[in-house]
Amino acid sequence: MIPRKFWLPLFAVVMLVVPVLPVPEFWITQLNYIGLYAIVSLGLVLLTGVAGLTSFGQAAFVGVGAYTSAYLSVSLGVSPWLTLFIGLVLAVAVALVLGALTLRMSGHYLPLATIAWGLALNYTMANMEFLGKYDGILGVPPITLFGASLAGGREMYWLIWVVALAAALAITHLLDSRPGRAIRALKSGSTMAEAMGISTFRYKLTAFLLAAMLASVSGWLFAHFQRTVNPSPFGLNKGIEFLFMAVLGGVGHVWGAFTGAAVVKIVEDELQVLLPQLIGTSGNFEVIVFGLVLILVLKYAPDGLWTFVQRWLPAPKRVRDWADAAPLPARDKPAPGSLLLDVKAVRKEFGGLVAVNDVSFTIHAGDIMGLIGPNGAGKSTTFNLITGVLSLTRGEVSFRGQAVGGLASREIARRGMSRTFQHVKMIPEMTVLENVALGGYLRTGSGTLKAMLRLDREEEKRLFAEAERQLARIGMVGQMHELAGNLALGPQRLMEIARALCTDPALLLLDEPAAGLRLKEKQALADVLRQLKAEGLSILLVEHDMDFVMGLVDHIVVMEFGTRLIAGTPAEVQASPVVRAAYLGTEH
Ligand code: ADP
Ligand code: MG
Repeated sequence: MIPRKFWLPLFAVVMLVVPVLPVPEFWITQLNYIGLYAIVSLGLVLLTGVAGLTSFGQAAFVGVGAYTSAYLSVSLGVSPWLTLFIGLVLAVAVALVLGALTLRMSGHYLPLATIAWGLALNYTMANMEFLGKYDGILGVPPITLFGASLAGGREMYWLIWVVALAAALAITHLLDSRPGRAIRALKSGSTMAEAMGISTFRYKLTAFLLAAMLASVSGWLFAHFQRTVNPSPFGLNKGIEFLFMAVLGGVGHVWGAFTGAAVVKIVEDELQVLLPQLIGTSGNFEVIVFGLVLILVLKYAPDGLWTFVQRWLPAPKRVRDWADAAPLPARDKPAPGSLLLDVKAVRKEFGGLVAVNDVSFTIHAGDIMGLIGPNGAGKSTTFNLITGVLSLTRGEVSFRGQAVGGLASREIARRGMSRTFQHVKMIPEMTVLENVALGGYLRTGSGTLKAMLRLDREEEKRLFAEAERQLARIGMVGQMHELAGNLALGPQRLMEIARALCTDPALLLLDEPAAGLRLKEKQALADVLRQLKAEGLSILLVEHDMDFVMGLVDHIVVMEFGTRLIAGTPAEVQASPVVRAAYLGTEH
């Protein structure tokens, strides 16, 4: 078996050798279109497959690149190499405006918005006098490279496929990087990513801009390959077709974009010949066939055709190459015994329900504080108020002497609070190690371009060394290469703790870490927490399991119906008749 790292170079060599072989012109043309479509689909893999943002409007960005270059090179005689960059700048500008307006939309609104702007951009192209209206622009000059004119299909082939392969490589690199993991985290909702310090909007916009840029480059190539542009290839039906290619090929995989582009282009041509013969009249019947095929694919192969190929390939394995990596920067730790967290009369109302009723308490550095109370007492809500996941109705929280009430959760994370979730939040299709590495986001800084160019490897080693160290701290090194989604609940909860530790927190907040664990797992968890305390970490532990908490914590706050019932040492709390009546009464 050929080692995995040679596949892409091998594929590249095969693809780039094609035009010097006696391949008929027809197939060169087909491959040119496949390359052009694959570039657009690659953007959709990133945007829709990885980030979870469905766009029907990518064809409009192809049009932006194509029209910009056609107009400027025909009317003003600008060099196509310059128009490439002007097209890219224009596509980015349009995407920035559209992204700012639409990317905060949730659910079905975003796809609907992409249809709207896809149509709008296409009508603009079709109705502008200077763009030739529906006739478009004729006589687009060929691209010249090192003095040679790329006028023929074979010459354009090189350029198209160099761009397509380079784009595939860049996206592959990106997906395995700090910004790539942030983009991969978007699909699972924003709460966890934001709690790790990631601006989810920023990465949605990044994916959107990259997809628009890929489409624009494809349009540029398209204009100079066809040597003419008109509005019809940039309409909504083409936008739907691009999405269809990505979904059919495998919208979660870089190579799915190529698979989808190839299958759709070839089958479409066959059907355009075959269907009129069968039906006896001409028309765009292939659209109907594609619609049916899409339904079948979504039902029987929702991850696309590429997964059938991938099944026969060995799974990628991360090489453990970080043994001697330098440690990541660490934060100044609070002095033991100093006031760390001051919660002052925080209140949360959900409509008429007072979920948290003016609750106050403090945590000092080095302490484990238990926040207990029956289900529905308002513990998680209090927790979310402190960590900025929910906004305060009233009250104030200060952390290390700074007011943090009203800050976004990622800002609070930056100041040194890190948390787990009552319902485990993770990226199931990432490995345990990658999930934990998400916690190191704020301690690293590589951006998108650096990642695509693979200039981030040193920092990645440091990050993975840190992630492994945190997994060792909780005894999970053995499972670091497993997919997080395959773990049982107990290890998943521990993994969340390792992820929180990877942020190098000054205060660790755990929301019911023992819930759903077996007795043995609970004991192991208690050992881990004791060890963390011995290392000087401060912890806020939310729990409704009294027995678990009692032997572990220094102080306890008991809540019931949103109100603080009593606070004190475990012994004081256990002795309190109020707690016995209220808490134990409901629990036992
Ligand atoms: P606990 O974590 O102690 O079990 P919670 O803080 O989750 O309790 O919930 C406290 C109360 O607030 C419950 O009555 C719950 O139904 C209500 N609540 C929690 N979150 C919301 C929300 N987003 N909208 C409306 N009510 C909520
Ligand atoms: Mg809760």
